[in-house]
Amino acid sequence: MRSLKKELQIQKTYEMLFALEDLREIFRQSLPTGFSDKEQEDFSNTANRIKSILSELETGEGKPACNRVGCLDARTREEEFINIHPIQAAGRLTPEGRKAVISYGDGYSTCDYCRKPFRLDKITRPPIEEFHQDLAKFLNMEQARVVPGARRGFQVVTQSLVERGESVIVSALAHYTEFLAVEVAGGVVKEVPPDQENIITAEATALKIDEVKAKTGKLPKLIMIDHYDYQFANEHDVHGISKVAREYGIPFLYNGAYTVGVMPVDGKKIGADFIVGSGHKSMASVAPSGVLATTDEWAKKIFRTTQMVGDLTKRKFGVKEVENLGCTLMGATLLSMIASFPRVRARTASWEEEVKKSNYFLEQLLKIQGSNVLSEWPRRHTLTKVDTTGSFDTVAKTHKRRGFFFSDELKERGIIGEFAGATRTWKLNTYGLTWEQIKYTADALLDIAKKYGLSIN
Ligand SMILES: *Cc1c(COP(=O)(O)O)cnc(C)c1O
Repeated sequence: MRSLKKELQIQKTYEMLFALEDLREIFRQSLPTGFSDKEQEDFSNTANRIKSILSELETGEGKPACNRVGCLDARTREEEFINIHPIQAAGRLTPEGRKAVISYGDGYSTCDYCRKPFRLDKITRPPIEEFHQDLAKFLNMEQARVVPGARRGFQVVTQSLVERGESVIVSALAHYTEFLAVEVAGGVVKEVPPDQENIITAEATALKIDEVKAKTGKLPKLIMIDHYDYQFANEHDVHGISKVAREYGIPFLYNGAYTVGVMPVDGKKIGADFIVGSGHKSMASVAPSGVLATTDEWAKKIFRTTQMVGDLTKRKFGVKEVENLGCTLMGATLLSMIASFPRVRARTASWEEEVKKSNYFLEQLLKIQGSNVLSEWPRRHTLTKVDTTGSFDTVAKTHKRRGFFFSDELKERGIIGEFAGATRTWKLNTYGLTWEQIKYTADALLDIAKKYGLSIN
């Protein structure tokens, strides 16, 4: 069961953080020469408040404070619970990322030292230009830009390559944002069907291309395939598909929303023309953030600069990139990406261990009779779709809380992130949990099963 002491200490930590912000605000309101008497008094009062919070924080005693900020509750899920939410796991900030948020939260905080040519990716202080080079290197591509989410990366490419009515090949397991990115460009999606194992193969992709050619008389303009899809997190044959793309002379976009930032991704090895990643899904960054990387050749097209001239003023804006609308991530989003990056880059080397934990966890779940894994097995990812229709759902059928009994039981044990109320098919992600947390969570599932008399193998 959850520790009440820990819960209070978390509350006190937030109370302390917020009090420190109050202290910080006094600096912001005062003159460079120092405090007025009133400010000095405020400062001392706030400092004393912080001291008393600290002593309560240390001992874990005292009354919980109201940590609401206006209409917002303090979000303490990551501190209080083990979170197995399918899309949140690898987007949790690193401590460095959180510090960057505190420090660079102000609006245009990236722009303190913006000099000619006045473009985000050219700023050297903080080292944003260098970060762009690091990103390109990290993905083994030639150029990279930060974008507000993977979806905006797709959009840059579709709007640059696809004309009205033209076809784009996507997977039948594609994310909705891929559909929308094609739609906004005026294109039409054509889906490659998965095989019986829910895998998108190179052969099926080639067949779909042939079919589109036969029906429309034209080759598709772009192939956009997820390395791991969002529904099952099955691995799809991106290497084979990229080869097919080259044979047909169609550019290939590798969707790494679930890979870039958690496992090694080598754009050259894959043979991708474009690599798209999601900062808030897999790179421990503030939303909305992401990366779009490409080759020097394609960069000319997708990162084309403005040609527009004002009819009255004759103004031109030289190096501003049209698809990026000049600059993209101008504050804490980008700085959180930069601050988290060293750890994100390093953690991709531990991917095999993450997969091992995922498989261990699911092996425990499978001991509960009637439970199944709907994703490919054994797992090659930490996101998984499971089916507990034959186990936990049989309890839900007669329980007065229905499917919510399961979330209640999990929450009581300090686990959240499963879709509340769902006991048939649901998704979970074990990314970033320690072995202790993995074992604890697996034991919790077995414990709940025992409590309700489910059979355990
Ligand atoms: C989450 C996801 C996206 C969207 O990513 P954003 O960064 O939120 O735009 C795209 N494709 C796949 C496969 C995803 O899982």
